[in-house]
Amino acid sequence: QAKAMGRHTYKVYSETMDEKNRHRAILASALRRALDRNELSLAYQPRLALAQNRITGVEALLRWQSPEFGEVSPGQFIPLAEETGLILEIGAWALREACLTLKQWHASGLEQLTVSVNVSANQLQRGDLPELVARTLAETGIAPARLELELTESVIMADPEQNADTLRACRRLGISLAIDDFGTGYSSLAYLKRLPLTTLKIDQEFISDLTHDSDDEAITSTIITMGQSLALRVVAEGVETYDQYEFLRNHGCDEVQGHWVSQALTPEQCLRFIREYYPGSGVRAAS
Ligand code: C2E
Ligand code: MG
Ligand code: MG
Ligand code: MG
Repeated sequence: QAKAMGRHTYKVYSETMDEKNRHRAILASALRRALDRNELSLAYQPRLALAQNRITGVEALLRWQSPEFGEVSPGQFIPLAEETGLILEIGAWALREACLTLKQWHASGLEQLTVSVNVSANQLQRGDLPELVARTLAETGIAPARLELELTESVIMADPEQNADTLRACRRLGISLAIDDFGTGYSSLAYLKRLPLTTLKIDQEFISDLTHDSDDEAITSTIITMGQSLALRVVAEGVETYDQYEFLRNHGCDEVQGHWVSQALTPEQCLRFIREYYPGSGVRAAS
């Protein structure tokens, strides 16, 4: 009887797995068509420099509005895009789209604004990322200093030696490089020193309990000090409250990003937001 029950349990489990796999396969084929059907877009989340109280740039975040599945979250479709290899095409599109949008903002007068684009492990491991970036910058007319790539610790640490070479080639183009979700991965401080990074983004995990959890306060203030002593620009992600903002400002964090400043916006909303709430952003400071 136990055997029968075991088999029954197994059967239920395997049906559930089949169900899950089928759903993933359907989602994957829908994602394959999404680019051609214009279902992908980028939302832009502003980053606020605390000392100047200006928006310095925006992070481009992928959005998928599917006619069949509705709004699919990046947490769902990006892993799928990575597993299927679609992320190469999608990533190249996102880079180009972000640069084209930035070009329009520059043309509207916000010429100092920068854009940050997230990069996946597959894109980095191919090794031709520097060529793709160089080509995209040339074709869209964006100066290298106005582009930043964001890479998570796990992306870089997948192959630290080879990826460091690729990142150095990217840096030589003149773009900025951020380590994303810092504190959640395994990068050793030795690697952090050897990588050609310009920016460190503290993961929102540490930010969310600031002013309630003294451990997170200690970790956050230590990351700020450490990052700055390595000459990195330190950005806090997922800042949702005034108290978090104030803590970060008091501890000398360079920039904040999160719902407290703004959620991710459409290009039109983003331009309007910057002009209305942070006038003076994106323009050269009067001397
Ligand atoms: P990420 O790069 O760490 O992006 C930050 C995420 O935090 C975004 O989620 C953003 O919407 C969210 N966020 C921002 N402020 C707040 C806040 O105050 N509170 C909370 N709770 N969340 C906040 P999103 O847009 O869902 O993106 C999730 C992840 O998907 C990104 O994490 C990034 O790893 C990945 N992703 C997004 N776009 C791209 C892309 O174009 N290429 C690649 N490779 N990955 C992308
Ligand atoms: Mg990011
Ligand atoms: Mg992040
Ligand atoms: Mg994250």
